[in-house]
Amino acid sequence: MKIVRHRLHHDDGTPYPYRESPNRGGKIDHKFLVIHYTAGSSVDGSVRSLTDSGSSASAHLVIGRDGSIVQLVPFDRVAWHAGRSKWAGLSGLNQYSIGIELDNAGRLKRSGNRWQSWFGREYDDGDVVEATHKNEQSAAGWHLYPAAQIEAAHAISQLLVRRYKLRDVVGHDDIAPYRKSDPGPAFQLDSFRSSVMGRGDESADVYETTAALNIRSGAGSDHGKLEGSPLPRGIRVEVMGTHGSWRFVNVLDHPEGLMDLEGWVHGGYLRPIVA
Ligand SMILES: [Zn+2]
Repeated sequence: MKIVRHRLHHDDGTPYPYRESPNRGGKIDHKFLVIHYTAGSSVDGSVRSLTDSGSSASAHLVIGRDGSIVQLVPFDRVAWHAGRSKWAGLSGLNQYSIGIELDNAGRLKRSGNRWQSWFGREYDDGDVVEATHKNEQSAAGWHLYPAAQIEAAHAISQLLVRRYKLRDVVGHDDIAPYRKSDPGPAFQLDSFRSSVMGRGDESADVYETTAALNIRSGAGSDHGKLEGSPLPRGIRVEVMGTHGSWRFVNVLDHPEGLMDLEGWVHGGYLRPIVA
């Protein structure tokens, strides 16, 4: 992908889908990238609301659970995604940031043996992580982000950081902690940030899986799954190498008795184990 006149294009020059939002301001003073979840039920529904002049809300991009991308505002113009917000001594972060919305239902409530979103849809345990938000005291369910969506977000984030010389990647829950909980604990913001910004995370070599995830023969979801896939959640792995958002790992635990398991997993589902 590449950016031409502040619009996202494929490498062959065809533009990504663009649905212009009227909810926008003047020029951005580029400093940050802000990650959000939509708390919605579909990309179409979120695009409809973020392009509705009555909603007073927008974002630069909406990324679907399959990795599809829709742009709503050119990258040099202010979108209305941050609201009242503060970061690094600045307030009103719309003026200083590009906003990415990830299609995700957000916080979920236990409902029998399933989970339920605020708009009433139900989810299985496999689509949910139970965790305590960094700004809260008690656990809740959080809708997981599929690997295809994280990969698309990672690729576009790297491109935006380089093109607009952005200083940092932050969550809406960092810049408006008393009002907002997106992208929440299902999004591994620390590892995403260090990978996007090109900062090595030297604090740990051992990580644990935060969801059941496939281990593959190469760095990408087009490579075959190895025996042992999916690795269960909570398995310890040692990171041996990196390619983009993918990590080559040596599996330290032995799910189903498999020994000497090595392969590639997506880094968005690994959490450092701090000794
Ligand atoms: Zn948000």
